[in-house]
Amino acid sequence: MAKYIFVTGGVTSSLGKGIIAASLAKLLQARGLSVTIQKFDPYINVDPGTLNPYEHGECYVTEDGAETDLDLGHYERFLNNPTSQANNVTTGRIYQTVIEKERSGAFLGKTVQVIPHITDEIKRRATLLEKEHNYDIIITEIGGTVGDIESLPYLEALRQIKRELGKENCVVIHLTLIPYLKAAKELKTKPTQHSVKELLQAGIQPDILVCRTEYHLPKELKEKLALFCNVDENSVIEAIDAETIYDVPLLMLKEKLDKIVLKKLNIKPPHEPDLSQWKEFLGKLKNPTKEVSIGLVGKYNELQDAYKSIYEAFIHAGAVNECKVRVVPIHSETLESGDISSKLKDMDGILVAPGFGERGIAGKLEAISYVRENNIPFFGICLGMQCAVVEFCKNVLQITDANSTEVDPGTSEPVIDLMPEQKKITAKGGTMRLGAYACKLSKNSISYKAYGKSDISERHRHRYEFNNAYLDRMESAGLIATGKNPDSKLVEVIELKDHPFFVGVQYHPELKSTVENPHPLFVSFIKAALQRK
Ligand code: GLN
Repeated sequence: MAKYIFVTGGVTSSLGKGIIAASLAKLLQARGLSVTIQKFDPYINVDPGTLNPYEHGECYVTEDGAETDLDLGHYERFLNNPTSQANNVTTGRIYQTVIEKERSGAFLGKTVQVIPHITDEIKRRATLLEKEHNYDIIITEIGGTVGDIESLPYLEALRQIKRELGKENCVVIHLTLIPYLKAAKELKTKPTQHSVKELLQAGIQPDILVCRTEYHLPKELKEKLALFCNVDENSVIEAIDAETIYDVPLLMLKEKLDKIVLKKLNIKPPHEPDLSQWKEFLGKLKNPTKEVSIGLVGKYNELQDAYKSIYEAFIHAGAVNECKVRVVPIHSETLESGDISSKLKDMDGILVAPGFGERGIAGKLEAISYVRENNIPFFGICLGMQCAVVEFCKNVLQITDANSTEVDPGTSEPVIDLMPEQKKITAKGGTMRLGAYACKLSKNSISYKAYGKSDISERHRHRYEFNNAYLDRMESAGLIATGKNPDSKLVEVIELKDHPFFVGVQYHPELKSTVENPHPLFVSFIKAALQRK
């Protein structure tokens, strides 16, 4: 039987519940336990796939093609284990299931209510992973902040789960904020007391408080919190601001969060934590011997979270190369006019980001012409790859009207076009080409060298695709399809001949980069940028 850890948040959002959950999971995993993490999101969208990146940051795609919350990316990056649809549940999905059951007559004669029907469905989902796998521990992060109207059914479900499982099988960790008041020169506990009261009102006594703080918590403050919030004194954990998110597991180890949890759950782990690989990564991350600047050309740059996995993949790839990767966000719209070389001249490499819609495309094409002609390492992801095809067809093959039908639906030269199976689809949720697909790489390509093998599998999220009617012309002019889907023959990777590094991929390599498995294409892109430098 699996044991359960729930993580709730108090006082304010953005305290980093995902990072705390992932860090604790890492420590437990490092002790030889099998752990997974799931996220419950209180919004009514069935999944974040239909949300604008400005609203919700990046949409993270799992192997099985679920469009999920970006916290799942942290779980995978920390644990180096894939997640799935079952690891992300939203209020929308809960209601959808209950309403479908109601329509099919499952509750015939009964009034369908939040309690017990919605809470029962939350409980069913909370324990679903246990039925599918053999986990020792399942950590559930409850999105939102206690006190939100949306969170109430989750807290009620949690109260019931805790009661049913009993103390030794279920622990609640409450992540909270201890603000520092400059004028009073004091750390304040009152907001935490209030948020714990909110939890108590829902019938939940937290077992452990993890306190986000900018300053170390004095012993007396921990004692006070323990007394007022009714937790053990050793269960008030300090989570001080860290230099990088990858420091947090070690900070939590120092604070003995894992030990306290294991004691409460009465688990004897197989061994002491083995974090050697993690520490080696941190050592390299913190002691770079060189530096490169990479221009990230996108259109959601105002919000770093929109490209979360790309930023993290650069951190992993930088560490492998013992190189600090300075990622410079470049808004593609700013490249549409003026002298492009003055804007890109300090970059050792350019990544053109994924995206949707027409806005910002012209600037991406400008950036690609520049790096193609000036032998600057180029990495195009999804829309970035599609733009590289359009740019090449326009400027090298002289197909003036070349375009993606996403940008110009009426173009006479649709070099990027809707996939045939997409043409009939009108519904937007979960209908793209999603999740893992196989790809075969040709030998002697840059990508083959990077991966060290020809059979790979990568994750996708797109509707449009390279139009194979243009393949021969494109290849004879030097832009080669070096990776293809073995079944459908869809083009997955393009590379420019006689260029140090010009690689476009239809898939999303950033989603599979982890601390222990940095993505090979990011690693070799950074190598190429270093060489250029
Ligand atoms: N908008 C493009 C498509 O749907 C690219 C998607 C992406 O970059 N994720 O095909």
